[in-house]
Amino acid sequence: MIFETMEQKDYEQIVFCQDKATGLKAIICIHDTTLGPALGGCRVRNDYASEQEAIEDAMNLARGMTYKNAAAGLDLGGGKTVVMGAPSKENEEAFYRALGRYINTLNGRYYTAEDVGTSEYIMNLIYKETPYVCGTSKSFGSAGNPSPMTAYGIYIAMKRTAKEKFDDESLEGKTVAVQGVGHVSYELCRLLSKDGVNLIVTDINKDNSQRAVEDFDAQFVEPDDIFSVEADIFAPCALGGILNDDTIPQLKVKAVCGSANNQLKDEETHSKMLEDKNILYAPDYIVNSGGVINTADELNGYNEDRAKESIEGIDQVLKHIFDISREQNETPLEASQRFAEKRMEQMSRIHDIRK
Ligand code: NAD
Repeated sequence: MIFETMEQKDYEQIVFCQDKATGLKAIICIHDTTLGPALGGCRVRNDYASEQEAIEDAMNLARGMTYKNAAAGLDLGGGKTVVMGAPSKENEEAFYRALGRYINTLNGRYYTAEDVGTSEYIMNLIYKETPYVCGTSKSFGSAGNPSPMTAYGIYIAMKRTAKEKFDDESLEGKTVAVQGVGHVSYELCRLLSKDGVNLIVTDINKDNSQRAVEDFDAQFVEPDDIFSVEADIFAPCALGGILNDDTIPQLKVKAVCGSANNQLKDEETHSKMLEDKNILYAPDYIVNSGGVINTADELNGYNEDRAKESIEGIDQVLKHIFDISREQNETPLEASQRFAEKRMEQMSRIHDIRK
């Protein structure tokens, strides 16, 4: 069955890593290396219901990285590591160094980085065994915490979304409803409030929402109410799957642009539902690509100004996607997928030119 699934969506390689001594059980999935070595984070979860679920998660996330990296203009393919079960504190060093040794056996076909359940410290442990890791401590020459750069990319994307929807890229006086005010969106709120945006925020963590209320004069609403507030733009910055059959009918916004990954519960159905309500959807993996652009810059010896300049490129990528969407009468999501696929096809053709 696995080969059948791999064949359907063109997966290159899946590596199952088992280390009895430390209890490590990890899946490294490489979806596509047409553009270059695969880059994608390492996710550690204790709550996979089955091996099947973990494999599917690794495969979906790896494929998502192929599209994200391609659309971001990076010369990188897509991959992901999923670890089934975090180690105990005493076992941590050996556990992650064992994972580092497995990553090293791939000889640079795959680079890992931080994701849900991992940290800079864990990346430092992996780095003891392999150079194919990003997101280590800044003192190791890495880019450090990507959240502020991700937020900057979202801000750039939101201005482009406003230009497309309201024919005015200025956000001044607009109202933005923000779901989740964590690492990324606290920074986003800071940028938006400097531009004179009225913010409506929610968070299940009261301290986080309180901080945004105090620091940015934001209005607080309860988590379930964020979908039905009157606003110009909705910025989902917490969880995936929140644009669905229940929430989309409640929306009273003109556009969606936020940091969360996999915002649409079902890509096809829910991007169409948004379009039918005349809500402009800025594809999440384009909007939040500032994080990976920043991380990928490490591979050239990190330079913050260069990374920032590359992140500003999200503006033109999104403009192009909105243009195709309008001209070809397809959803922005479909347009973004075709954009990424076209880049992979074009680049694979130039790779065929031999010296
Ligand atoms: P975070 O955990 O710091 O922030 C998420 C916030 O959402 C938290 O404050 C949490 O309490 C809140 N939250 C969770 N469930 C909620 C709910 N049901 N209603 C309201 N609030 C809720 O995470 P983050 O690093 O800021 O990332 C936010 C999103 O952006 C995630 O989906 C992540 O995958 C995505 N993303 C992050 C980066 C990055 O650089 N950190 C890059 C790309 C994508």
